[in-house]
Amino acid sequence: MLLLKNVDLYTPAPAGRTDILIAGGRIERVAPDLGVSESYCEVFDASALVAVPGFVDSHVHLAGGGGEGSYRTRTPELLLSDAIRGGVTTVVGCLGTDGVTRSPENLLAKARGLEEEGISTFIYSGYYAVPVRTITGSIERDLLLIDKVIGVGEVALSDHRSTQPTFDEFVRVAAEARRGGMLSGKAGVVNVHMGDGPRGLSLLERSVKETEIPASQFLPTHINRNPALFEEGTAWAKAGGFVDFTTSTVQASLDEGEVPCAVGLRRMLEAGVDVSQITFSSDGQGSLPRFDERGRLSGLGVGRVTSLFAAARDAAQCEGLPLEVALQVITLNPARILKLHRKGQVAAGSDADVVLLDPGELDIRGVIAKGEWLMKDGEPAAKGTFE
Ligand code: ZN
Repeated sequence: MLLLKNVDLYTPAPAGRTDILIAGGRIERVAPDLGVSESYCEVFDASALVAVPGFVDSHVHLAGGGGEGSYRTRTPELLLSDAIRGGVTTVVGCLGTDGVTRSPENLLAKARGLEEEGISTFIYSGYYAVPVRTITGSIERDLLLIDKVIGVGEVALSDHRSTQPTFDEFVRVAAEARRGGMLSGKAGVVNVHMGDGPRGLSLLERSVKETEIPASQFLPTHINRNPALFEEGTAWAKAGGFVDFTTSTVQASLDEGEVPCAVGLRRMLEAGVDVSQITFSSDGQGSLPRFDERGRLSGLGVGRVTSLFAAARDAAQCEGLPLEVALQVITLNPARILKLHRKGQVAAGSDADVVLLDPGELDIRGVIAKGEWLMKDGEPAAKGTFE
C-alpha cells in the first residue's frame, strides 16, 4: 500500500488538499487526513506537489511506424522510459502506413511487453488500409476475442497514403467495429487518420447522414493538421462528433499552417465546442514526414509521447485555460470515449495511475502506474527490459 499525503488533487476537476490511498494497484480511498498506520504502508509526503490522473495517449505507434521514405525511414519502437518521462500510463497502439512488414500480431506482442514493464496498453486492429488486416480474420472477431483490441485504425482518409476506400468500404469497417464493440462491451471506435486532402471529413459525415452509425463511433485524428481541416473538425465537434488533436509536430508543419494544439483547444472552446468532445494524442513513434509540392519526401521526424502533456501544459500556461480543462483532454475524455472505465480519473476504484507535478512550472516529478512508482522525486524508478 502507498499513501500520498496532503496532495493538491485534480481528478481532473480540482478537488483540493487530500490524501490518496493506493492498494493492490487501485485507488482505495481519496479523502483528507486518512489515518493509516505507517507500519502498513509507504507514506509519501506530497504536500509540495499536485496530483493528476496518469495520461491516456490514444494514438501511439508502439511498435514503430513510418517507412514512407523507404526502409531506412521506418521508425523505432516506444521505450518504457519515453512513456514515463511523458507521464503516459495508458497507451493505445496502432500501426500506420505499412501493414505488410508491420503486423497486428507484432503490435499486440509489443503492447503486452509494455504492460509487463508497467504501463497499461491497448491496441487498434488494422492499419491505414481498407480492407483492414486483422489478427483473427475480422474486426469483429478481434474485438470479441482479444482483450487488448478496443477499436480499429488508424484508417487513412483524404490522404495520398490512403488506400482510397469507397464510401461503402469505409462504412463496412465502421459497422464491423460498432458490432464488435457492442458485443464485447468495448468502444469499437474507428480511429481515422485524416490527411491534408480536400475531401476532409466527408466520408464520416456521409456515414452519419446515410447510415444508422452515430458520430460517436469515430475518432478522427490529426484534426489540427491544417486550417481547413481544423474548421471542418470544429463543425463536426459542434454537431456531436469527437475530434483528436495531434501533439507531435515539427516547425515546418507549424509554418505551413498546422494549428498548435494549445491554441486549437482554446479556439475550439471559444467556438462553442464542449470540451468533452476533444482529445489530444501524441502520434508517438509515428513518422512526421514532409512532402514537397510534388509529393516527394523532403524530411522526416519522429513523434514523441512526451509532447502530449507538453501541449496540455501549454494550454494552461500560455493560452490561459484552467488546468482541469487542459488535463481533461489527455485523461478523462480519452478514457471515456475509449470506454476505459478505470482510467482517466483519480477516484476510489480507479486504477492507481497518478502523475505528480510541481505546482510552479508543472514539471513531472512523479509517475505511478498500476500502483507502482515509475518515476519518483523526478528520477526514473523503472526501466524497460533493455534500457
Ligand atoms: Zn496518422
